[in-house]
Amino acid sequence: MSTATLSGVCPECETDLTVPPVVQGETLACPECMLTLRVEDVQGGQLTLQMVEVQLRDWGQ
Ligand SMILES: [Zn+2]
Repeated sequence: MSTATLSGVCPECETDLTVPPVVQGETLACPECMLTLRVEDVQGGQLTLQMVEVQLRDWGQ
């Protein structure tokens, strides 16, 4: 079984995204609104994406 791409929806602008295979915890940028999105879950080729507030990132221990 080979899955060429995964699909998901940007939580911010609701653009349909088709991306190369990624794994949970990876980040990608929405080409439409340029937000950074983190992959929360991958199920059946469908991504669950969460917006990442890059500038407010908690660098804590
Ligand atoms: Zn977007």
